[in-house]
Amino acid sequence: MSQAEDEYDVAVVGAGYGGAPLAALLASAGRRVALVEKTPRAGGKTQTLDRRGYRYEMFGAVGIPAVGSRVDELVEILGIQDRVRLLVPDGPAAAIRYRAPDGAWRVQHSPLRQTGDPEDLATLQRTFGATDADMDLLGTFYLSILSMSEDEVFALDDTGMLAFLRPFGLPAGLESQILATMNMLFVVPVDLLAASEGVLVLRQIVTGGAGRFHAGGYGQVAEACAAVVAERGGTFVRSTRVEEIVVEGGRAVGVRTSGRTIRARAVVSNAGIQPTVLKLVGAQHFPADYVAVVEGLEPSWSIAGLRYVLDDRVFDAALTPVFSDQSWLDSQRFAAMEAGDWPDVPLIAVDVASEFDPGLVAVPGHQVANIQVFVSPDPASPMADEAVRRAREVVADLWPGLERHTLWSEPYGPRQISRMTRDATVPGSGGEAVGIAQVVGQVGRSKPDARTPLPGLFLVGCDAGGRGAGTHQALDSAFNVADVVQAELG
Ligand SMILES: Cc1cc2nc3c(=O)[nH]c(=O)nc-3n(C[C@H](O)[C@H](O)[C@H](O)COP(=O)(O)OP(=O)(O)OC[C@H]3O[C@@H](n4cnc5c(N)ncnc54)[C@H](O)[C@@H]3O)c2cc1C
Repeated sequence: MSQAEDEYDVAVVGAGYGGAPLAALLASAGRRVALVEKTPRAGGKTQTLDRRGYRYEMFGAVGIPAVGSRVDELVEILGIQDRVRLLVPDGPAAAIRYRAPDGAWRVQHSPLRQTGDPEDLATLQRTFGATDADMDLLGTFYLSILSMSEDEVFALDDTGMLAFLRPFGLPAGLESQILATMNMLFVVPVDLLAASEGVLVLRQIVTGGAGRFHAGGYGQVAEACAAVVAERGGTFVRSTRVEEIVVEGGRAVGVRTSGRTIRARAVVSNAGIQPTVLKLVGAQHFPADYVAVVEGLEPSWSIAGLRYVLDDRVFDAALTPVFSDQSWLDSQRFAAMEAGDWPDVPLIAVDVASEFDPGLVAVPGHQVANIQVFVSPDPASPMADEAVRRAREVVADLWPGLERHTLWSEPYGPRQISRMTRDATVPGSGGEAVGIAQVVGQVGRSKPDARTPLPGLFLVGCDAGGRGAGTHQALDSAFNVADVVQAELG
């Protein structure tokens, strides 16, 4: 039976790494899909900007795991190998800048994929001043997480990562390296981070490495998914905000934009659980206890930073975390920072996209880079400005040529993240870097279900349906929620 122009099987709100792949998977499976995105591009928080001949990420992103990820699976299923190239550089593309307890900076270069090479282990040992016995403890830690069954990993949903790690007795430096990594991957305090998520992603890093990029910009995979939707009988509507999810007879039946109503048998929202329930649908359409749970969900932290376009190769690695033993963040350390008590080195992540894809810059040898610090998700918080100011000082000290070689730089923080991607509907939220926090009580069985109590309405992205770090979690959700929606549509 032919459908009227604005009637679809599925309407998807938002083309982030949750929404765009979900829409493409459903379109490829023969569903007629309308994908509606309020910004001009697909990719959500990892969309790629194009300015004055330079391409760079709006908010910075690299993929974890580097190889063997669900992105490989997606490219295969959609058959988009001709337009998506996944980049994992060989050689020492990762670095660490660690400020040792004596105040000296130590530098370590390593490949993005762990090789198990004795020389790499020796470098790690030197960087963190670890003894042979310390390295044995580290080996015990990794062996024990690698030997766990999936069920054993998921049984850690209610255990905090810090509590899981501490009994291994690692020395401060090696512990700092793991905990700083956890902060950077999940953007939540390490005491509350669910150990199941931490262990899952550390295992992915051991087997698949950390640091995949997409040729042309990280957002390219999402753009390719949006194109698939349009090519396979659906539509991708850019620069169009969904104002309302339409409910009729106790069921979600479509979405309304300023100029159009799109009717669909199922509506899937990538706009975030709180904006979806409290704003796009309206709390009156849900049971009061569900609304109370949604209102009480904890957001992840935000990230503030600076995008740099540089006229020289200032940074010598694609990824560089910068930290001391005071930099990793639990709830207490973060609260101290919010109150104005900062560590000697705020935890900084430096991503240099042009080290993955030299084609991103207008002039060979130039760089596009991004420095990132961890701050409150509250768009009104003053923390972001202070964090960026402090990070800038540390980075200028480490890379003295940075300011001199800056063609231009663009600051950002929770205000911009919220404006671009996620409406602030609960006090203190909106600027989440990830989505709802992957903390104990909000992952696995305790994570919101992708099915909502409103028939016909589903959630996709980092708020429901997936596990893993950042975009990989959103994509895991896309696969899982596509199955749920297919079952619903029959
Ligand atoms: C600075 C920063 C650095 C990061 N670094 C990394 C990294 O290195 N690696 C990594 O994997 N992850 C990283 N992340 C996290 C990652 O970006 C997110 O986890 C992931 O992109 C979230 O995907 P999502 O699909 O759940 O949501 P989003 O990306 O937020 O997508 C939601 C989409 O819905 C759209 N939308 C919302 N409301 C509406 C509406 N009413 N109508 C129409 N469209 C709407 C938004 O515009 C957006 O496109 C980083 C995030 C930030 C902010």
